[in-house]
Amino acid sequence: MTVDVAWAIGWTRATAERVIARRAELNGLDRQIGDGDHGENLARGFTAVVARLDALEEEPAAIGDVLKLIATTLMSTVGGAAGPLYGTAYLRAAKVTGSPTLDSRAVVAMLEAGLEGIVARGKATTGEKTMVDAWAPAVEAAVAATDAGAEPAAVLAAAATAAEAGVAATIPLVATKGRASYLGERSAGHQDPGATSTAIVLRAAADAAV
Ligand code: ADP
Ligand code: MG
Ligand code: MG
Repeated sequence: MTVDVAWAIGWTRATAERVIARRAELNGLDRQIGDGDHGENLARGFTAVVARLDALEEEPAAIGDVLKLIATTLMSTVGGAAGPLYGTAYLRAAKVTGSPTLDSRAVVAMLEAGLEGIVARGKATTGEKTMVDAWAPAVEAAVAATDAGAEPAAVLAAAATAAEAGVAATIPLVATKGRASYLGERSAGHQDPGATSTAIVLRAAADAAV
């Protein structure tokens, strides 16, 4: 499938279905090292996103229009860390996707912009047990796949697979950003909820492109 506006809408709806289906799992991860609301936060946010998508009178002209709708909705409906972080990621990604379709380079630019948004907002780097530990390897894998000549759908698949590996790699890490950092060494041995939701979002993007 072409990575176009219909893809962006499919990605958004798939993300909503998956974060709602995995709400309890995400809450459970966040209960281990945070305050137990990560699944709730995202389920609430993406439920509102889908409601706004459903209310649109005409199909958005550009992929960025869909991403901007997600950004503004998450910023106004999701509190805590994840709302502003994902909101900024989608907003930055929206700014580089003002076209109706994306080629592989443009998919990379979208993912890079998302990561830049999260870093600008949260000031985390890799190894701090945050969503950056899923986003950063995803961007790296997307660049490598694009350099190797992959089609946009394959670039998204490579990013999702790398994000999933990044999630597993958060387990031994000690958190130094966000609520989990309050636990210090005791945060080790637990999977980061935000990295987990990032992998869900990126896998949904890949699945929507096939
Ligand atoms: P809160 O901690 O406010 O309850 P959530 O539970 O929704 O917010 O989100 C927690 C997730 O946010 C963490 O698992 C982590 O991945 C991510 N996070 C927290 N702080 C940062 C940060 N500074 N940079 C990147 N990600 C962060
Ligand atoms: Mg929380
Ligand atoms: Mg909270």
